Amino acid sequence: MAKVHEVLAAGPTLSFELWPPRDEQRFARVLGELAGLRPHFVSVTYGAAGSTRDRTHDLVTDLLAASLVPVAHLCCAAHRRHELVDLVERYRREGVENILALRGDPPLNSSGALPAGELRYAVELVELVRAVGDFSVGVAAHPEGHPDSRGALEADLDRAATKLAVADYAITQFFFRVEDYLRLVEGLAARGVDKPVVPGIMPIDRVGQIARMAEMSGTTFPPRLASRLEAVRDDPDEVRRIGIDVATELAQKLQAEDVPGLHFYTMNRSASVLAVCANLGLGPT
Ligand code: FAD
Repeated sequence: MAKVHEVLAAGPTLSFELWPPRDEQRFARVLGELAGLRPHFVSVTYGAAGSTRDRTHDLVTDLLAASLVPVAHLCCAAHRRHELVDLVERYRREGVENILALRGDPPLNSSGALPAGELRYAVELVELVRAVGDFSVGVAAHPEGHPDSRGALEADLDRAATKLAVADYAITQFFFRVEDYLRLVEGLAARGVDKPVVPGIMPIDRVGQIARMAEMSGTTFPPRLASRLEAVRDDPDEVRRIGIDVATELAQKLQAEDVPGLHFYTMNRSASVLAVCANLGLGPT
């Protein structure tokens, strides 16, 4: 096992985000293909309010048994403090060493807000996890500011810096413009925080889905890219090809900035991520 902040200190990382699967058979193939790239760690999402509580846990422990380094996402939204302590203690007993401490959002296709939990912000969850055990604790970072901040970027950066100061590293929301990532890192540095900020990359492979996710997460979907994709909307192969090109180019620009690693939002699909990693020469030859 390994702690993510120690792995990051050793050199640039390759990592993936997975969702707890519904289709186990298809997922096993995807996981096998992604594991072949020898990622430094693999993170597993958590449905805020506990909608994937057991499935997240089971996938995290399966990855551990398969000698991968799992990072368990955990959301404080809609949970009681004692429930969070129970979940973290269970991970500690099982030898899981990495937790990504998040507030959480309602699921993509739901309309309502989550009920309040006992912890209001992710920074409080970082402190709770630290009190339970010796975990490597990551947090989310938002290159264009979190949507709740409604454009108050400086205040959002202040809070991000406060959160990252008590965490070990951050992984960003996906984005398309390198300058948004650089502005975040510079803003944190100006506030005295220089912990690793791993950029998150989402290779596009469906037009409608990416537009919805960008809107929800406050990510600018560049109009030129949107119209390029709109023109080939009914040709899934061409959409995927553009998505691979765009993700490759973004990753190359980020590598040129000496980022601490690349984290791919896989959406439990492997083809585009495999193609981007091949373009970048990542993974075993
Ligand atoms: P916080 O850090 O709590 O911030 C939320 C908002 O509150 C921000 O606007 C912040 O500025 C503000 N804020 C923070 N502290 C204060 C304060 N003291 N006073 C006033 N305002 C404050 N969601 C899921 O549901 N499940 C997942 O598995 C998941 N994984 C993710 C992984 C990554 C890498 C990322 C980037 C996001 C992920 N998300 C996930 C989405 C995330 O939960 C949402 O972006 C959520 O809206 C905010 O989470 P956070 O942890 O950044 O929240």
